[in-house]
Amino acid sequence: MAGKRSARFHDHLPRRAHRLTIPSASTTFRRPGCIPRSPAPSTSTYQPSTFNVNVSFLGLGAIGAPMARHLAKPPFALTVWNRTVERARTFAAETGAQVAKSPADASRGADVVITCLPTSREVESLLDGDLGLLAGLSVGGLMIDCTSGDPATSRRIAERVAHRGIAFMDAPVSGGVSGAQQGTLTVMCGAEPATLERARPVLEAFGKKIVLCGPVGAGDAVKAVNQALLGIHIWALSEGLVALSKAGVSPSLALEVINASSGRSNVSQNLFTERVITRAFPRTFKLALLEKDVTIAAEFARENRVPSPLTQSVADLLRVARQTLGEEADHVETVKLLEQWAACEVRG
Ligand code: NDP
Repeated sequence: MAGKRSARFHDHLPRRAHRLTIPSASTTFRRPGCIPRSPAPSTSTYQPSTFNVNVSFLGLGAIGAPMARHLAKPPFALTVWNRTVERARTFAAETGAQVAKSPADASRGADVVITCLPTSREVESLLDGDLGLLAGLSVGGLMIDCTSGDPATSRRIAERVAHRGIAFMDAPVSGGVSGAQQGTLTVMCGAEPATLERARPVLEAFGKKIVLCGPVGAGDAVKAVNQALLGIHIWALSEGLVALSKAGVSPSLALEVINASSGRSNVSQNLFTERVITRAFPRTFKLALLEKDVTIAAEFARENRVPSPLTQSVADLLRVARQTLGEEADHVETVKLLEQWAACEVRG
C-alpha cells in the first residue's frame, strides 16, 4: 500500500465475521517516513496479505502493546510509534508492523490513529510541532484515544483536531493486560454516534463490549468512576485483611468467606487471591496510573458539584502509597503500605 490511501475505510471494511482473502505473499506496504521493517521471524503470526485500513498505534506500553497486536493482521496495515524506539522495533520484529520515526510519520497516510499513553496530557503534547500528529493527519482522519484520560482535556483535543477536519473520540479500556491479550476488553466511548460507527471495526479487534457512554469525554468519565471503585475496593480490602491477619485470622480463609458473601468484588475474587495471598505481585498496571484515575474521578465529581469525600480520600491515600512504594509499583501493591503501617503481612 506504499504511497496509496485506501478509500475511507468504513466504506469497505470487512466486518470481523467476514472471511478475509489471504492473497499473494508479495503484497507489501510501506508508508513514507517509516523505518524499513526487518522480515518477521518464521514463528510470527504475521502473513503478508490484503491491507485496506491503515492504522497507526502510538504507545506500546503494558496495555498498548497487546492491544496493538490485534491490529497487526489483515485487514489492518499497522504502523507503530513509541517514545522508546527499541520497544517499537521489538514489537515490529514480532508482528511485521512498520515503525514510524515520529508521530507525524505515524499519522501520515493513516485512516485511524490510536493513542494509548499514561494521561491526556501526553496525548495533547504529541499533537504539535513539525513531528507532531497534526503535521501528518489529513482531513477526514480519525483519532481514537484509548488512554484513561480526563474529560476536559479530551474535549479540548477534540475541538483542536476538529478545526483540521479530524474526528476524535475517547475510548479508554478495562479488562487489564489479560483482557487486552485475549481481545476481550470493555471499551468506553465518548463520541458522536457516527464517529463510533467508523471506529467500531478497529475497536472490535481488541474489544468485546463497546459502549457509547455519551459525547467526547464521557468515556473518560465512566472509566474514572470505575477506577475509583477499584481503588476504594483495594484500599478497603487491604485494611480489612491486614487487621484480620494481625488478629490471627487466616487471610485465605477470610477471602473464602468474603468471596461467598456480600462484600466480594473483583478485587477480592481475583486480584487479592491471585496476587496478594501468593505474594506474586505481578506488575501489570501501575499504582501511579490508578492514582491518576482516582484523582480524575474526584475532579470530575467536583466539576459537577457532587461531594466526593470517599473518592478524594482514596486519591490522597493512593498518592501516599505511590510516594512510598515508588513509580514502578503495581496498583495491588497498595496493600504493602497498610502492611508497613501495621507491621504485619497478609500471607497464605
Ligand atoms: P505504561 O506505563 O506501561 O506505558 C506507557 C506508554 O506511554 C509507553 O509506551 C510509554 O513510552 C508512553 N509514554 C509515556 N510518557 C510519554 C510521553 N511523554 N510521550 C510519549 N509517550 C509516552 O502504561 P500502560 O500501558 O499500563 O497504560 C496506558 C494507558 O492505559 C493509561 O492511561 C492507563 O491508565 C490505561 N490502562 C492501563 C491498563 C493496564 O492494565 N496496564 C488497563 C486499562 C487502562 P516508553 O516506552 O518510552 O516509556
